[in-house]
Amino acid sequence: MIHPAPSNLVDLHKLRLDAAHALLARTGTAELPPIDGDATTYIQAVIDGLNELSLKDALTGLSNRRQLERVLEAEIDRVARSGEAALLLMLDIDHFKSVNDNYGHLAGDQVLQAVAQALAGCIRPMDTAARYGGEEFAVVLPSCQPAFGQVVAERICRTIEATPIRVSPSVDLRVTVSIGGAFALQWIRSTTELWVDRADQQLYVAKTGGRNRLCLEEQPDSTVSAEEKHLLFGHLAAADPAWIDMSSGAAPGGAV
Ligand code: GH3
Ligand code: MG
Ligand code: MG
Repeated sequence: MIHPAPSNLVDLHKLRLDAAHALLARTGTAELPPIDGDATTYIQAVIDGLNELSLKDALTGLSNRRQLERVLEAEIDRVARSGEAALLLMLDIDHFKSVNDNYGHLAGDQVLQAVAQALAGCIRPMDTAARYGGEEFAVVLPSCQPAFGQVVAERICRTIEATPIRVSPSVDLRVTVSIGGAFALQWIRSTTELWVDRADQQLYVAKTGGRNRLCLEEQPDSTVSAEEKHLLFGHLAAADPAWIDMSSGAAPGGAV
């Protein structure tokens, strides 16, 4: 039920609030102050709640693509400045189409929710798990050395594989995932697209290698691909072509 706004500032019934109905229904709980309190406090709490909703995937409650993009940008920035390792994992449920085909779309949705929950249980509070789209998920792990990344990715694979998912009173399903991972380039400010692309390439290797497995890119170094070189140093190379050769190691001065 939508509550009227405090005083006569705004009539919430007249707004198209769609997914926010559930939020407003929590008026008077710890999440939203009571309706008869201070108008500014109430409206601020509604705005904060809507802001948070806008960063979440409605089906799974994980971060959505927009929030993932923000987190990736922030990590690229941090790693470029600090040189700390950060890992991006891309996960894709194996043979998910057959879940929909055999048990229906609703069962498919239940599987997505269960996988999201299992995934969230495998990571640290500082990590971000997001629904990338369809049956693909992404996890960003800041401050993550390669050995730790391997352990986390393996834990995710094994946990999901071992989780029974009840889709009807008589059917428990089990699914597996394939995982690809890539580390952010240290000392170099690349782009989210290129980082996701590198993790996706590893995911492709995991898929073609038989699924239910993980494939992480080698220990990160600071070399960059020809494409990235052009993107990062092209403008400097135009002024001084020697720059492209210099840039194949760690970029001088860090961020570009
Ligand atoms: P692979 O092992 O190669 O990843 O095979 P797959 O079947 O998992 O992949 P494919 O790309 O063939 O199928 C993905 C399916 O995911 C197709 C699409 O209908 C389904 N899907 C995407 N989003 C949703 C959703 O929100 N809910 C449900 N139930 N299904 C979805
Ligand atoms: Mg897919
Ligand atoms: Mg799939």
